[in-house]
Amino acid sequence: MWEGISKIWQFILDIIFPIKCIGCLWEGEWVCSSCLSEIEINKKLACPRCGCISDDGSFCDQCRVTSKMTGIVAAASYEDKLLRQAVHALKYKFVRDMSRPLATILHAGLKVWLSRHQVDWQDVIFVPVPLYRQRQRQRGFNQTALLAQELNKRAKFTVRDDVLVRIKSTPAQAKLDPIKRRKNIKGAFQLEKTAILRGKTIFIIDDICTTSATLEECAKEIDKAKPRKIWGLVLARGK
Ligand SMILES: [Zn+2]
Ligand SMILES: [Zn+2]
Repeated sequence: MWEGISKIWQFILDIIFPIKCIGCLWEGEWVCSSCLSEIEINKKLACPRCGCISDDGSFCDQCRVTSKMTGIVAAASYEDKLLRQAVHALKYKFVRDMSRPLATILHAGLKVWLSRHQVDWQDVIFVPVPLYRQRQRQRGFNQTALLAQELNKRAKFTVRDDVLVRIKSTPAQAKLDPIKRRKNIKGAFQLEKTAILRGKTIFIIDDICTTSATLEECAKEIDKAKPRKIWGLVLARGK
């Protein structure tokens, strides 16, 4: 019965507050398929640090030294206004369903990566960047876990949002300079399960990656589980 009532309630809400595309205001979807197809997917993979062309998206020889990651795949460009608006709606306006069109973008980025790599689907695990408990309670969800779950409906790998936890509450990275970001995030994560990650190809999923300090810190923990490779997968590299 409750399900029936909640459906009726959703129907009433849809009439009072219709869902409109944030791009063209077309009713019915948060981002309509036509606006979604306007978001340009990065077809060229590049070194995540210096930006030089790298066939498979890995760090170039000069930039590889300090990272536990093989590379970071950014699906689209931060210059894209619609993408930025969609991420903002998901993170700060709590529009959960925005994770669907955004996962389509992540999937398109992943497909570019898949076109250059041979992997067995059983060997790939998505690990979303965890939120601190309290923060997740306030927001009601972890946006990166939603993105990973939605992505997985399209890519059929494995999502594990229980292997890595955030043990430190940290101020939002966006307000800090690069050096403070690294200090801020240091020691923020803890690996909870190791066996499942051993020998696998891990994709750490995040929304926007700016200095990559968060991804690096997650990778440092995940590396303790001795995976085969660690990659980052994000919607875009921010500024
Ligand atoms: Zn639209
Ligand atoms: Zn480089």
